Amino acid sequence: MYPASFEYHRATSVADALALMARYGDDAKVLAGGHSLLPVMKLRFASPGHLIDIGRIAALSGISAAGGDVAIGAMTRHADVAASALVAKSVPALSDAAAAIGDVQVRNRGTIGGSVAHADPGADLPAVLVALGAQIVATGKSGDRTIAAESFFTETFATSLGAGELVTQVRIPVPAAGSGCAYAKHPEAASGYAVVGVAALVTVAGGKVTAARVAITGLSSKATRLTAVEAALVGQPANASSAGTAAQAAGEALDLYDDARGSVAYKANLAAVYATRALTSALARAGA
Ligand code: FAD
Repeated sequence: MYPASFEYHRATSVADALALMARYGDDAKVLAGGHSLLPVMKLRFASPGHLIDIGRIAALSGISAAGGDVAIGAMTRHADVAASALVAKSVPALSDAAAAIGDVQVRNRGTIGGSVAHADPGADLPAVLVALGAQIVATGKSGDRTIAAESFFTETFATSLGAGELVTQVRIPVPAAGSGCAYAKHPEAASGYAVVGVAALVTVAGGKVTAARVAITGLSSKATRLTAVEAALVGQPANASSAGTAAQAAGEALDLYDDARGSVAYKANLAAVYATRALTSALARAGA
């Protein structure tokens, strides 16, 4: 399949990209890594008249420490996130997830900004960003605004990004001392997308879990907090047994249905198994 014809524009700066987006409006799409957009265009689910390539805007790439956050430019490739020593040290759940995306070609082209803007319900990064309390920076003609990841993802392939806004950065707060975070995933065999993926962040003090944030992808229409699991874990001894018990509540937040990927019972079990794995790894990284 070939996409419908379009006009290609290479943006030279964020301001240039915003001006092109304003000029062409709904008839334009931003092109980042192209690994989600181009398949959609080839299937003719989207036929934009104009593609605005943001891939050569140097200011949109890179990973740095910024205050108490790890700041990642929207055009940063999954492979660079997976290889980052800063990410591995500060927010290792994000390293886990970036390294588990698709295959080497997808990781070399796909970007963190494209992943969050596309909001695929089987994407890995959204669950990690929700669990870690990340902020998405959106830049439009009136400047920057930050949106909590938890409210950024609104539905399947839908976000709270406004018309004419570009995702320019993702900011992830570095967890407090005594915390650990991890991501565990069961990949779909052909694509690598998550059948289920669970991200967990825990804080431990005095041998007990004092705080927990857990989010799931793949089994829900968008990255979703597992608040029942969090509530079941906080106050419990920081060990694998508590993690396994709390994880049994993973299915509660999910509107599961039978389909070609499995029955409701199978999916509820998958959610519990991968929540247990993510929590157990997070507890180990917290030193429990
Ligand atoms: P693009 O395809 O360029 O863009 C996607 C959408 O986001 C478009 O609508 C575009 O206009 C918009 N957009 C892009 N950047 C911005 C921005 N900065 N601001 C506003 N809008 C923007 N993902 C996973 O999470 N896990 C997997 O296992 C996985 N496996 C894959 C396997 C295959 C074979 C393929 C082709 C893809 C896979 N992906 C997977 C998706 C991959 O991670 C994509 O890279 C990602 O979904 C989109 O990023 P992109 O940079 O390619 O965006």
